[in-house]
Amino acid sequence: MVVRAGRLFDAASGEMRRSQVVTIRGDRIESVGPDTSESAGPDSRTAGPETTVIDLSDHVVLPGLIDCHAHLIGEVDSGHGYASLVQRSGAQEALSGVRNARETVNAGFTTVRDVGTFRAFVDVALRGAIEAGDVVGPRMMCAGAYVTSSWGGGDVTGLAVDVDEVVPRELRFGVANSVDEVRAVVRRILHGGADFIKMIATGAVLTEGTVPGAPEFSEAEIRAAVEESALYGTWVAAHAHGAEGIKRAVRAGVRSIEHGSLMDDEAIELMAERGVWLVADIWFGDWIEEHGRAHGWSPEVLRKNEETTDAQRRGFEKCVKAGVKLAFGTDSGGYPHGMAARQFAYMVRHGMTSAPAIQSATVAAAELMGWQDRVGAIEPGRFADLIAVRRDPLADVDALTDVAFVMKGGEVLKDARGGGSS
Ligand SMILES: [Zn+2]
Repeated sequence: MVVRAGRLFDAASGEMRRSQVVTIRGDRIESVGPDTSESAGPDSRTAGPETTVIDLSDHVVLPGLIDCHAHLIGEVDSGHGYASLVQRSGAQEALSGVRNARETVNAGFTTVRDVGTFRAFVDVALRGAIEAGDVVGPRMMCAGAYVTSSWGGGDVTGLAVDVDEVVPRELRFGVANSVDEVRAVVRRILHGGADFIKMIATGAVLTEGTVPGAPEFSEAEIRAAVEESALYGTWVAAHAHGAEGIKRAVRAGVRSIEHGSLMDDEAIELMAERGVWLVADIWFGDWIEEHGRAHGWSPEVLRKNEETTDAQRRGFEKCVKAGVKLAFGTDSGGYPHGMAARQFAYMVRHGMTSAPAIQSATVAAAELMGWQDRVGAIEPGRFADLIAVRRDPLADVDALTDVAFVMKGGEVLKDARGGGSS
């Protein structure tokens, strides 16, 4: 298969190249280089008996995007905490995941790092169904369940004390309250098919009764998760808003800090020094403010969102300046899937230029995931995951919110170039 690109984003250099040709064999990219053919005519479908030509010569082609902080399982929260999770079955969670996966890939995100589900391992099941070709969706790297302390940011909170015990185990799979319990749940989660560990190191905005600034694990507990993960060849992504929780997580050796809303200068310095990634969902706060207020979300959630949104953006700006490694992540699933690319404009508004912002969702995201061999760039050997947009995203990064064409592993999943949708 041959793809002719009017312009092509070279993720490694951050530069836009004119008139390129990408050749694809099976599900992988075989070569990329300048288009030397005189003209193949618009939309010529074949250039030889067995070669399909896809003409994107009036489009901008980029690697498939990567959201490093996605939740494909579950419905958007009601804004009243997570107690309502007991009203939904695992089957419902899985089937909404099918829809979420389709909407995610249709928006141009061909890979996600899925950072957790309350109902354990539904993400792993979805990953399997996508890999088997039964469900359309992005490549998934999965957390399996949250490692969280009891009544912490990843627990089901908000139930009356005298019915609290009825919450089934699969909704509290990763609850741990000591170093030994952390080791046990980490092993159990990785044994259950997770690719990495998501640890809730502080309270959360959306989890009722928890305090974003408050640490919920000791450094020793986080280190136990890091050590156990390393035995399985993987690592820990730490949900952390408060500065103390961030510092504990960084010192304990986590690979990424998620959110990072209330960081201080010392935390930023530590992250830069140790090469810890920041995955900050700096658009999501505006969505909560707007949608949550209109839909009567609880005052507690709205207040915590106010306390973290602007602070997070100020911290993000400092991290850009300090050279902290940044990967794109949006908390999709907190808001309806398919809108993730709206975050790019926020990243540009808060200190980045367009090219590094796009790199954070391509080549840098792949590096965070350890998937540099398969996604994040249009380079020989990587999967043929390509998207196309109509306008130059280096001139206006918002162009990425309107993806006209999506290919994953050499298969065209969306072709809306005519204005229609596939
Ligand atoms: Zn999240």
